[in-house]
Amino acid sequence: MCGHVFRAPQAGSYVTVGRETDLCPKFPGRQSDGSRKIQDTITMCPACSFAASEDFSDLDLAFDERYDIEERLEEDGLLKVFRTNPPPWLAFHAAEVCGQERGLMFRELGDLCLRASWVCRKEREHPFESTFQLRALRYFIRALREEGLYGRELSVTTYLVGELNRRLGNHREALNWYVNAERTLGVEPERDAGLAWLGRLISEQSKLAREQAA
Ligand SMILES: [Zn+2]
Repeated sequence: MCGHVFRAPQAGSYVTVGRETDLCPKFPGRQSDGSRKIQDTITMCPACSFAASEDFSDLDLAFDERYDIEERLEEDGLLKVFRTNPPPWLAFHAAEVCGQERGLMFRELGDLCLRASWVCRKEREHPFESTFQLRALRYFIRALREEGLYGRELSVTTYLVGELNRRLGNHREALNWYVNAERTLGVEPERDAGLAWLGRLISEQSKLAREQAA
């Protein structure tokens, strides 16, 4: 983006030991190592703060696009405050800002914010965890309204809207979305066997939300 050359850590593949109910991967070992692995999925330029989950050499940005992104990054309040001493979630925020300018899908922007919330949880940055959960939730709702999701992506996104609502304390809202998510799975025998895990998760989390709502 700005021509600055730097070495980024390789994201590579990693071993997980299951997932939390918001699909955050669990890693063997320390929480901070897991956080590092999620952070390595985003690359941020230390000079101009341009950030993306793609390899920079795969990006093809038009001149105008570069200019607009540069301007957004320079003006961004959080980047101004935190650039000199970046907290673990900053690259995700920068990738979100760049992603908005690059016209990424709402589903993808939501995914960036969701991953940022996982990092915040592993790093015990709880106020920022909620901030990113709320942003992910809003992007996912827009994706469901405007992006014509279907199949697995539709089911998982609808479930996540329920789960994020539950985690943010909106238990009744969560219950409605779990019902919607259950509906996207269809009825037997046409159900996708590969999504049986999601069906189980939906019923467990509905039960939990009902208890919490009471
Ligand atoms: Zn740069």
